[in-house]
Amino acid sequence: MAGEKREHKNIVIIGASIAGHECVNRLVPHLPSHLGIRVLLIDARSFAWWPITILRAVVVPGWEDKITIPLSTERVFKADSPHRVIAGNKVLELREGSVVLERPFEGSEEVPFFRCVIATGASQTIPTMPGWSQTEKEFIDSLRRSQRKIESAKRVVVVGGGAVGVEIAGEIAAHHPHKSVTIVHKDCGLLAPTPPNDVSIKIQKGGSAEVKSYFSPPTDPRLSVELGKICDKLGIAVILNDRVIIPIPTNSSFDDESKDNEVHPDGHFSTNTDGRVSEGDKVDSESKSIEWDGTFGLQPSLVTLRLESGKTLQADYVYPGCGVRPNSKLVGEVDEGALDDGLIRVDEYLKVTSTSHESIFKGQYYAIGDVCSCPGFKLARTAFVNASKTAGNIISEIKGKSPSKYSVGAISHLDLPLGPDEGAGMTNFGWLGTWVFGSKVTTRIRGKTSGTERFFAGRFRGEKKSEIVFD
Ligand SMILES: Cc1cc2nc3c(=O)[nH]c(=O)nc-3n(C[C@H](O)[C@H](O)[C@H](O)COP(=O)(O)OP(=O)(O)OC[C@H]3O[C@@H](n4cnc5c(N)ncnc54)[C@H](O)[C@@H]3O)c2cc1C
Repeated sequence: MAGEKREHKNIVIIGASIAGHECVNRLVPHLPSHLGIRVLLIDARSFAWWPITILRAVVVPGWEDKITIPLSTERVFKADSPHRVIAGNKVLELREGSVVLERPFEGSEEVPFFRCVIATGASQTIPTMPGWSQTEKEFIDSLRRSQRKIESAKRVVVVGGGAVGVEIAGEIAAHHPHKSVTIVHKDCGLLAPTPPNDVSIKIQKGGSAEVKSYFSPPTDPRLSVELGKICDKLGIAVILNDRVIIPIPTNSSFDDESKDNEVHPDGHFSTNTDGRVSEGDKVDSESKSIEWDGTFGLQPSLVTLRLESGKTLQADYVYPGCGVRPNSKLVGEVDEGALDDGLIRVDEYLKVTSTSHESIFKGQYYAIGDVCSCPGFKLARTAFVNASKTAGNIISEIKGKSPSKYSVGAISHLDLPLGPDEGAGMTNFGWLGTWVFGSKVTTRIRGKTSGTERFFAGRFRGEKKSEIVFD
């Protein structure tokens, strides 16, 4: 670890998405310049992507060009800045005072730091997010393929009626009104209907024991009802109190993991890797139905899905609206006690903490955003607030001042678009109760672009301009 790196005190931020990038933006202007501190923003991927509109990009042609920006030092930092972006380079290991990268940076895989912020977020199956090793172009191409596949499908089943499931069903139904779209959801209403008095208590507590899944936040039952009505309007069938039995697939769990897995223009399918349907085979999807093998995405023919109730459903496209996992493995590998049911355990300052006395986490690591156990919905706003608080606390530490405690705040907000013209949401005002609203308010909040220009492109403040232009 000799050489240039030693001249700097590094603040390492792992994850250049909403939480990590916002933390950088909040830190950099306030760093005392004479101390030789530099920020290293690391991301496994070579580009940033905007999760807020990804589900539209999965379905609607044209949107795939509006959700990615290459990650580079020039796009994130001003000219002559000491700070660096290390993109397309995964952090593989956390140590007490350093992180270990997949590939060398300045001649070494090991990067020392004096403070490290873990903002590694959560993962779900593609196409809902890019594969780890996909380039920006490959990701955009995969979105185009997914649009074509959804276009070619007739019967779509969405497994899970959490936020991802409801939103993707809405996008498909709004863009393809003649397709059959069905959501199967385990709960008695869409998302996670919770007795109204418990909603704010659960939001305030944090930890995955309270907010069980990222995309099924505790929901005022009136919001579940409102979403159900919108589904009705869009012609989406909703099956509640039931689950799809998901077999373990023999090959990939998503059709798109093979780039060869293309839809032919004549409507037939060929796969070169999994052998389910060979090139040129003609599948009469209306007359044959085979058992679903657990592979998500476009099916080789009409498949039969089995539900726990004993019911069956037929589909030629199965979308995973479930299965979001926090990217907390790095922490679990060095200290299981620093995990809280899969999320990184943080204290009231958002510092990583552990139940183990031999932990490497001694106050030098913070964890923010989707990956941490702090209270609040696992949503963009929480990531922004976490980031801002953490940047302030790091600056305080540098200046020898006391850090301040994190608070989720009294107001929590959630809104869900179901296509461009419909949607619903809720704002919880703590003990004052919850306001539930429908399409009119949701479409006004979201606008046409769901904040892409301001909150995504706008967070790139470097020398090189990053713009996303809408017509
Ligand atoms: C489909 C979908 C729709 C959503 N819709 C909404 C919405 O409408 N409104 C809303 O408020 N929120 C929405 N969310 C939630 C919101 O996107 C998240 O709350 C937010 O992205 C969390 O930000 P984050 O920075 O914590 O994590 P992420 O956005 O998950 O980013 C984590 C980053 O860490 C990087 N990373 C992970 N591991 C490593 C490693 N080992 N080394 C280096 N880099 C690593 C990843 O590449 C990624 O860039 C949605 C999420 C999804 C998936």
